[in-house]
Amino acid sequence: MSLAPTLTLEQAAGRNWSVVVVGAGPAGAVVAGLIARVGLSVLLVDRSTFPRAKVCGCCLNGRALSALADAGLGELPAELGAVPVSAFRLAAGGREASLRLDRGVALSREAFDAALIRRAIADGVEFLPATRATGVVPRTGEAVRRVLLHQQGGEREISASIILAADGLGGSLLADGPAGRIRLGSRIGAGVVVNFVAPFYAPGTIFMAASATGYVGLVRLESGALDIACAFDPGAVRAAGGPGALAAHILADAGWPVPAKLDEAGWRGTAPLTRQARRVSGHRLFGLGDATGYVEPFTGEGMAWAISSAVALAPIALAAAQTWRPELARVWQQTHRTIVTRRQRVCRVAAEVLRRPWLAGLIVRCLARVPMLGWPVVRHLNTPAVPRIYSGAMQ
Ligand SMILES: Cc1cc2nc3c(=O)[nH]c(=O)nc-3n(C[C@H](O)[C@H](O)[C@H](O)COP(=O)(O)OP(=O)(O)OC[C@H]3O[C@@H](n4cnc5c(N)ncnc54)[C@H](O)[C@@H]3O)c2cc1C
Repeated sequence: MSLAPTLTLEQAAGRNWSVVVVGAGPAGAVVAGLIARVGLSVLLVDRSTFPRAKVCGCCLNGRALSALADAGLGELPAELGAVPVSAFRLAAGGREASLRLDRGVALSREAFDAALIRRAIADGVEFLPATRATGVVPRTGEAVRRVLLHQQGGEREISASIILAADGLGGSLLADGPAGRIRLGSRIGAGVVVNFVAPFYAPGTIFMAASATGYVGLVRLESGALDIACAFDPGAVRAAGGPGALAAHILADAGWPVPAKLDEAGWRGTAPLTRQARRVSGHRLFGLGDATGYVEPFTGEGMAWAISSAVALAPIALAAAQTWRPELARVWQQTHRTIVTRRQRVCRVAAEVLRRPWLAGLIVRCLARVPMLGWPVVRHLNTPAVPRIYSGAMQ
């Protein structure tokens, strides 16, 4: 059953909000709940209805779990039956390696995102699904920021003390200044969930098959279904005749089982993945999560970046909603650089390595012989990103 709105568009338009959050993915739902918990009025809007599917590898690493705990939501994955993940199996360049993972879970985005919104509503957030937001250029001297909310039956302008742009990859709210940069040759995402009962894909292991044209990640979800999430060169998808055909080809090359009729499954795609917003904040406006930029998903860190930024932004947004000061926009730029942009380096390097099959093959061969060579990366994925000063600020 889909999550019901907690008010109508008409009712939302009749109120002056402290905070409007656009986008109810992990970034938006977590920051909305944190701010509402301290008593400010928060409206959360999303163009989708929930539960909704999302192209994602569905793995929460140790850093994402720590950030969830910082937000007071640490018990949620276990409550939803998340599958603990303890191994990563990588095939590339004709070689295979296995790494032990000491933290992390697999959880469907349908269950996770809807549960985060439910928790935000319980914290006092008002929620409007099936509502698309577009930016409104600020008028000089105004002490509010506005967005236009569109529903099937009409549209209304809403004003708030501040707006938080959590509208995901390719989101438009932050771009009412200069548009973001997409990396030349960026890969696109593709994903599907299938009911494929091959014992090979055992629960608790992340499988990753990489080739020069992209990679395919597979993991068992809490329902037993198999989540398949990929990053592909767009030209290779066209040449193969679709994402399913390319995924089948890469899995077969790795010698791994290929789900029947994979090319006919209901694949979803994404916009180009690797991109950087030119700014992460503006006048009474803060961005977080994928809306501020993203790097290919090989290391599966997107939700950690999204939830960590929600935890770190909450106290800054709270201060800005109470008394707007332009320097708070600069504080967020610096904080965001420390907890997100700098931490994306490992993922950038991994993405570059995977584009060179000989190098990927060499690294996999080394990892197969000496698995402890992979530990620094595993440690990086599990180390909390949010300094205590932020994570403790909203508790
Ligand atoms: C192939 C692939 C595999 C991945 N695997 C992993 C993984 O294993 N682990 C991991 O941690 N991360 C992974 N990620 C990344 C992860 O999915 C994202 O980083 C994460 O979802 C970001 O959360 P978010 O809240 O910023 O954005 P989203 O989850 O994308 O949420 C944004 C929301 O904004 C809404 N929205 C957009 N525009 C508007 C608008 N104008 N008005 C209203 N609503 C709007 C959308 O409907 C959406 O619900 C993967 C990504 C890809 C592509």
